[in-house]
Parts: sequence; C-alpha cells; structure tokens
Amino acid sequence: QPPKQIGNEPVKAFGSKDLVDWDLLRASLSKFKNSSLDVPLVINGERIYYNDDGGKRGIFQQLNPANHSEVLANVTQATNEDVKAAIQASKQAKDKWYKLPYYERASVFMKAADLICTKYRYDMLAATMLGQGKNVYQAEIDCITELADFFRFNVKYANELYAQQPIESSPGVWNRAEYRPLEGFVYAVTPFNFTAIAGNLIGAPALMGNTVVWKPSQNANLSNYLLLTVLEEAGLPNGVVNFVPGNAVEVTKEVLSDSEFAALHFTGSTAVFKQLYGDIQKGVVNGLYRDYPRIVGETGGKNFHLIHPSANIPHSVLSTLRGAFEFQGQKCSATSRVYLPESKSEEFFRDLGGVLSEVQPVNTSASKINGGDLHGFIGPVIHEGSFDKLAKVIDDAKNDPELEIVFGGFHDKSKGYYIQPTIIKTTNPRHPYLSQEFFGPILTVYEYPDAKFEDVCELVDSTSQYGLTGSIFARDREAIKIADEKLKYSAGNFYINDKSTGAVVAQQWFGGARMSGTNDKAGSGNILNRFVSVRNIKENY
Ligand code: GLU
Repeated sequence: QPPKQIGNEPVKAFGSKDLVDWDLLRASLSKFKNSSLDVPLVINGERIYYNDDGGKRGIFQQLNPANHSEVLANVTQATNEDVKAAIQASKQAKDKWYKLPYYERASVFMKAADLICTKYRYDMLAATMLGQGKNVYQAEIDCITELADFFRFNVKYANELYAQQPIESSPGVWNRAEYRPLEGFVYAVTPFNFTAIAGNLIGAPALMGNTVVWKPSQNANLSNYLLLTVLEEAGLPNGVVNFVPGNAVEVTKEVLSDSEFAALHFTGSTAVFKQLYGDIQKGVVNGLYRDYPRIVGETGGKNFHLIHPSANIPHSVLSTLRGAFEFQGQKCSATSRVYLPESKSEEFFRDLGGVLSEVQPVNTSASKINGGDLHGFIGPVIHEGSFDKLAKVIDDAKNDPELEIVFGGFHDKSKGYYIQPTIIKTTNPRHPYLSQEFFGPILTVYEYPDAKFEDVCELVDSTSQYGLTGSIFARDREAIKIADEKLKYSAGNFYINDKSTGAVVAQQWFGGARMSGTNDKAGSGNILNRFVSVRNIKENY
C-alpha cells in the first residue's frame, strides 16, 4: 500500500505572503537569472554536453522571455545518433524497471513530490518563472502543487488499477489480470506552458513500468531538466527517462521509425498532433510497428465563457479577466471567446476595462509594462515566434471592419515579448476570431440579443472545432440546463459559474474531445489505463 493520500498540495504563494520565503525565492531567481547554464542530454543517466565542440553539433539558447538579452540556458541538441541511443537506453532499462515491485516505482514519485514541495521548491519556481514567463502564483500552481499532485494521485490511481481483478471464477479456476507495461518504449512530447504537464507526461507511463524517451519543449528546458534531476535524486534509475531536447521534427522522425515505439504521450499544438497522428497511422499500415501504438494527446482549445442575462456580472468579469489573461492566455484552457447578452454589455465592458486598467494601464508604453517581476499580473509571451503571430492577429483586427479593439492592442518586443491584454468585439457571430486558437492574451467578444440565448448555445456548439473547456455563467437553472445539453461535446471540462481554466488534479479531470485531443483525462486514473497492456491469466488448480 502506498502512503495514505493527504489531498491536494496547498498553494502557498497566493494571498498570504508569509507562507513563501521570499529570500529563498530571490536567491533561486538570481542563481538562474542570466546564468547561461549548460543543459545536457541525459541518456541512461549519462550527461552529454555539446558546448565544448564550439556548438558544432547544436546548442539551443533558452532566453528569458521577459528580457531576451538574458540567456538562461545553453541546451545541447540531440543528434539522430543521440536519439537512437536514448531509444536503446529505454529498451535496456525496461526489464529491470518494470520487474521492480510496484511500490518501489511508486516511492520514486512520492519522494520526488516531497522534494519538489520542500528542498527544490524555490529552484523549481525560479526556473519556471524565468524560463516560461510566469509570475510566482502561476509558477506555484504549476511546478509545485499540480506537479506534486500528479505524482501522488497517479500513485493512488495506479494502486486502485492494480487491485482490479476479474470477479468471476469457477471451481478449480483462478483468473488473474496482470497489468503489463506496454511492449516497447513511450515517447513523451511535452509543452512549455506547464512544467507539471511535462511531469505527468513522463511520470504516468513510467509509474506503470514503461520507459520513456522525453522531448521537452525548447522553452522549458531549464525547469524540465531540473525536474529530471529531482526524479533522479528520488531514486529514478538510469535509462527509465531519457532526456533529448532538440529539433522536434528530427527527434520525432527518429523515434517514430523504431519498431518498438509503443505510445505517444503528447501535449502541444493541434497541428503537430494531427501530423503525428497521421504519421503513426501510416507506420501501422506499413507494418512498421510490433504493436498498435497508443496515441494520447491533449492539444488546443477555443474556450468559451457564455454569459446569460441572469449571471452575476461582477463575478463573470473577474472570472473572464483570470481565464483570458492569467499567464498571458497561454493555457490550452484559456478563455478566448465570450458571448455576452446585450443588456449586460455596458456593465461588463466597464467593469472588465476598469479592472484591466488596474493591472495594465490602457495607454501603456513599453517601459510601463508590468512584467518580469515577482507579482506582476502580465508577463511576456513565450518567444518571438509567438509574439509575432499574436501581434499580427491584433494588427489584422485593426483593418477588419467586422472587428473592433475595445481594450489593449499594444505590443512591444524591444526588451521582452509583451502583448497587452486585448479585447476585440465582433459583429459577426461566425467570425474566424471566434473559432481560431491564438494562444495568447487576446479575447474576442460577441454580443447577442438577450432573447436568443438558445440560439447562441447552438452557435457556440457549431463553431467549436475544439472541445476543451467552456463555462456558463447564469443564476437561472433552466439556462444552465439548456447550456449543459446543447454544449455536450463543446467542452470536455464544462464549468458552471467558474472560469474555463484552473483544473485541479483529481478534482477536475482535464481533457477535451473534438480537435482538442483524445480526452484521456490527465489528473484521473483513466490516463494510466493507456499505458498498460492487460494480460489475463487463467490457471486451473
Ligand atoms: N490544466 C490547465 C487548466 O485547467 C491547462 C492545461 C493546458 O494548458 O494544457 O488551466
């Protein structure tokens, strides 16, 4: 039996400053700031650095998105040979790892969770804040509490899964279920926006006895490498997780060409996931793989806040502020479209504009943007590519007669990659800005006549190519019921009177259908099923 669960790890960095040791946090921040740390590949526990050959074989510079003149890490980039070696290491480590008693594997993750919440708390926070552009609260709910929760609750769920056995037997027969890991190795492709998600994408398969080739996001290398070292300190054997930062296309090509590729565990963009999905299926059709690889993916969203005339407007305003603009809207679950009844429009915009002006001056200039500090509400977006894409979305809106920028619209990349929170109103209920994902602090709003609530539910559903998260704000129970029914497949996480972000492990199982992914629900026991291959054993005695 694993230790008894103690519930979700409490968040310390919000509202009660004295629970955080600010001196320790500052010390960790200055350790990583502008430090140009060398981040190696880790294959079978061995560190490989390429900065001593003049970068010939490739170094990626991870910059501080709040100040791109600062280099946080020089990250060695895996060559094809390195990826092959990582695959080999995964295969070799497999046998010993999965034959360990389950509780030995579990204890690695339980211990890692404790180390994250104690000894490495401030280093994890600093690496995530600086590298991924988070303020302290956004970092805390990610790389501390959610990460620890994933590790601990996965242990609880695995324990329950292993206990499930065939119920029926007959005289002289003993039926047993054996939860084998998948045959082969797992490929984890992890995103920049949550260190915790990276932890779960490698941790869930590894806990079930699989070994993993891990391609971290280039923009999260620092925190992700730190996470790997914490797992090693907690007892993760060499070769169980092999860390290969590098060119995504190259690394993936090498991995998918191996016959023992057994599963993809992915969080990232819809476009990349679609591509991988197709490539894997081609591999199956061509007889490349020994097993049918499992494909587990969580991708994009175009998440809605649907506001009914009966809603509590101050509450829906604050929820929208947080859902749309916390962490610069760089969550798959971020609120990116709002449907607003005409009768509440004035109040809604007045209040939202007011509270936004407090956290972000309207006529801001580059120097006034409040970013890169410990508590600022607005930070940078992750990199130049993202900045340019978002700036274009804003600039295009200025020339579109169906769009009107009602708040924000400013952007500046002279020092860091800053996009002002921007609200765009549209008169066209089917405007592409109401269905395309931007992954940044841009919110599109459509006003509907109060009497047309049901039609708007249908509109939201029919413009949902994604189905990740969405919220109904209403006091009227009938309205809630209508939205619940009409939006059945528009959101895998459906919130009533709450923002579309902030799923908590074990409380809100996270994932969506349609083009948002395979909906295997991170933070639940379901995900673990995808990384086992059940063998049924019948014995006559
Ligand atoms: N689990 C996060 C939330 O509910 C979002 C995860 C993501 O961005 O992929 O806000």
